[in-house]
Parts: sequence; C-alpha cells; structure tokens
Amino acid sequence: MAIVASDLSSVRATPSPYLSWQAAVKSAIRDAGELCRELKLPPELASRSAADSFRVFAPRGFVAKMVPGDPADPLLLQVLPRADEAEQADGFVRDAVGDLDATRVPGLIHKYHGRVLLIATGVCAVHCRYCFRRHFPYEDAPKSLAAWRPAIETIARDKSVEEVILSGGDPLSLVDHLLERLFEELDRISHVKRVRIHTRLPIVIPERVTDEFVRCLTAMRIAPIVVVHANHARELAEDVSTALAKLRQAGIPILNQTVLLRGVNDQVDSLVDLSRALVNVGVMPYYLHQLDRVAGASHFEVPVARGLELVEQLRSKLPGYAVPRYVQEVAGESGKRILA
Ligand SMILES: *Cc1c(COP(=O)(O)O)cnc(C)c1O
Ligand code: SF4
Repeated sequence: MAIVASDLSSVRATPSPYLSWQAAVKSAIRDAGELCRELKLPPELASRSAADSFRVFAPRGFVAKMVPGDPADPLLLQVLPRADEAEQADGFVRDAVGDLDATRVPGLIHKYHGRVLLIATGVCAVHCRYCFRRHFPYEDAPKSLAAWRPAIETIARDKSVEEVILSGGDPLSLVDHLLERLFEELDRISHVKRVRIHTRLPIVIPERVTDEFVRCLTAMRIAPIVVVHANHARELAEDVSTALAKLRQAGIPILNQTVLLRGVNDQVDSLVDLSRALVNVGVMPYYLHQLDRVAGASHFEVPVARGLELVEQLRSKLPGYAVPRYVQEVAGESGKRILA
C-alpha cells in the first residue's frame, strides 16, 4: 500500500473529487471476518490462512453489489479467501506466465512485438483471489518516477515499441498527478503511439474516473486506450456505467477483459449478460481469458473444452462484436494463444 498510503497523506488537503476515490480505497474491507459479517454470512466461510497468504481487499461499493446471505455470490467468490486456495494442484505454480523471465529492467515486461508492459505500481484496489500476480515480487517494482527511469529509458531506446501498456497492480491506484508525469514522459518518446491502461478501478471504485484523469488522457499526443476488467454483469451497475460514459464521451476507446472463472461466470447466461451489459455501455468485449495456472487458484479453473463450448454458445446468441476472443497466455509464445 506504500504508494496509495503516502499519496493519500499528501493529497488530503486537496478538495474533491480526489478525496472520494481515495476515501473509498481507505475504507475498503481488509478483513475476511468483516466481509462475512457485512454480507450476513458465517465467518467460517472465509479461510484465515488463505487471507494470510493474500490479504483481503474489497472496496465497499463493490461489496454493496453482492447479495447478502449468498455464499455463492459471483462477486463475493472473486474476493473471498477460501480453504480451497490451499489445494496443491499439479501444474499450478507461482510464476504461471513466465513474467520473471521476461522482465527487462525492474517493472518492464517485454514479451510481445511492439508492446511492452510497464508495472506502474504493485497496488490494486481489489484483491482478486484468482489473480496470476498474487505471488509477483512487487517489492521490486518501481515505486516513484525516479524508479521508472530505467524502464522509460529502455522504451526510449527501443524503436520497435509502439505501445506501452500500463499494468500492475492497478495503474489507476496512482494519483492523477503521478500518472500525468508518466504520460508526459511517454509522450516525449516519438515512436510510442499508444498508451493502454489495464485497470479494474473504474469497475470497483468508479469514482476513480475523475475529470482530471480524463483530461490527462486526452491531453496527450499518444492515443489512449482503456482496458477494464469485469467478470460479471452485476459489476456494471449504474455508478460504473456513468464513470465509463465519461471516458467514452471523451472519445477514449474502452475494451474489457474477463477471466473465465468457475462459479463466477462459467454459465452461458452469465457470459451473455456480461457481454450485453458491456456493449450497452459502449465497452467492447476484448478477451475472455483462460485462467492462468497460478498456485492457489486451481478451484477457479474451467476446462478449456467447456470454455470452447461456452464461446460457441455465445456466438449463437450475440452479435459478432459482442463475443470476446477466448485466449490463453502460454509462456514463451509471441502473443496470447487464441483458443476461439
Ligand atoms: C497480455 C500481454 C500483452 C498484451 O497483449 P495483447 O494481445 O496486445 O492484448 C502485452 N504484454 C504482456 C507481457 C502481456 O502479458
Ligand atoms: S492485478 Fe487485476 S486481477 Fe490481479 S488483483 Fe489486481 S485488480 Fe485483481
């Protein structure tokens, strides 16, 4: 929490809208027992040891979209630490997608032609239990503009890099003035044409889409693209669609990625509802990811054969543009592997 915590203290004197999203970060539920109590569920539902290995972090606005009393709520399952996480499943490892091998300088992952991934921060505004980054050594990721210097210099030297993907963690955990500084640095590198922001913040804390952030994005020479991450239609409530509309009205393309998750969205109706909810607010379904085989997440896995069947059913129910590409990340390949 280093960055958010320190930035919060420096920003406290600034008037809203900054305060609102940072207050939401600050007041997020960080305790499994509290999460259960909030939802009128027995505390035994949560596993202490799972929570010890990857801390609970759930913004209250996200929790408010869960159905109280339902232990199988698809939003709850994404954030609730469960005993299943202790399962030792074959093939589920700590560095599931070879990120450590592809790290060029601290915080810079270069796997695919023309685009690099910059870990702008290790901080997220929600802790997703299935996340492949749950074991990532974020302590090594840059924590200040000065620490980004080697990554920025590496990008500046490599003329093949057209697109910089800000990832994390969640890059929108950074305050706007830091993001703006980073955008300015990237804007100066003439071969960089696009900046893509991979973020779950507009979904879990929609207040994060501040006017200032939208202004920073549109002030650049380089073209911004925002890729959000929603897994279930219920995540796209009115507060979220209003936030997304701000980006859309500023002319910023918005894509969505989803992880195929057992118990969360592995039924055709839930995937259809999600795609409909997305396209109805102007967000294009981009990728449906096969789960990365990260240790502690095996209980979320949906077999590829089932995923293929689901995508085929989606094709029979939705317009072509509303069907995401079903992909899998395979270490060492030149791009995401397209499954369907
Ligand atoms: C997924 C990923 C990308 C982006 O891939 P696209 O197919 O362009 O969305 C880029 N770099 C890394 C390291 C990735 O994991
Ligand atoms: S990186 Fe994304 S999926 Fe992983 S915990 Fe953070 S918000 Fe969730």
